[in-house]
Amino acid sequence: MRIEMEFLGSGTSSGIPTIGCDCAVCMSSNPLNKRLRSSVLFRIGAGDDERRLLVDVTPDVRMQMLRAGVSSIHGVLITHTHADHCHGLDDLRGLYWGGGRVPLELWAYPESLESLKQTFAYIFDADYDYKGIVKLDPHVFDQEPFDLAGIEVLPVQVIHGSMRVAGFRIGECAYITDTNEVPPESIAKLKGVRLLILDALRRAPHPTHMSLPNALETAEKIGCERVFFTHINHDLEHEAINNELPEWARLGYDRLRVAIEEDGTISVTEPAASDLPPPISF
Ligand SMILES: [Zn+2]
Ligand SMILES: [Zn+2]
Ligand SMILES: [Zn+2]
Repeated sequence: MRIEMEFLGSGTSSGIPTIGCDCAVCMSSNPLNKRLRSSVLFRIGAGDDERRLLVDVTPDVRMQMLRAGVSSIHGVLITHTHADHCHGLDDLRGLYWGGGRVPLELWAYPESLESLKQTFAYIFDADYDYKGIVKLDPHVFDQEPFDLAGIEVLPVQVIHGSMRVAGFRIGECAYITDTNEVPPESIAKLKGVRLLILDALRRAPHPTHMSLPNALETAEKIGCERVFFTHINHDLEHEAINNELPEWARLGYDRLRVAIEEDGTISVTEPAASDLPPPISF
């Protein structure tokens, strides 16, 4: 079965450009340096049978869904509840309406679900007296694989400072954001992944994120054929960094689509120039 991951966003928590910054990357006219907050859309299968799973609900989710041309999804996976990964939760209502008002399945670690219930109490309040909100069908996972819309999803626990974050493996694809360390038992769970998206914040070490050298080393340990980096900050200029990376590693960017096709080949689909973010505004 074909499995695609579309970069809905590839930027760090502030997005790039960052408010108030006039560095060369934030001021760049290259659309590949424009980064909404990190998120991917898994598209599994094709045609009417395609299953669309959204990983994280960023503050940019409305724009991300509009530009991806997506009005309905089959479920939501939450990596963790830092603001850049879940503060778009209210905007899921558009996808709830687009999906025929069937409560949206949302999967998270138990502590992440608790955190969402605190931050978005009204969404989880069955007595909330206003119709214009998303209805969710929440579920929790821990270490074991689970079924979401007929797709087997394997959660992979990684370390993000003092907290844990869920990576997600589907078949030979995996998405791992916000981590400074992938522990050995999780490397083992990722063996056989051929196509990986992985956190790489910047060149220099960071206490809660992978640096570019850490990320390359981790991808080598996993043994994937191709890796694309995400959650990128304004230290990394797209073209300059790609020129120094090995052939099998690249910076991801918004709207890039990478997939394992039905016949097992890995495909990389670049967006048309007209689909890229314009030079100044979004
Ligand atoms: Zn983040
Ligand atoms: Zn900057
Ligand atoms: Zn985080």
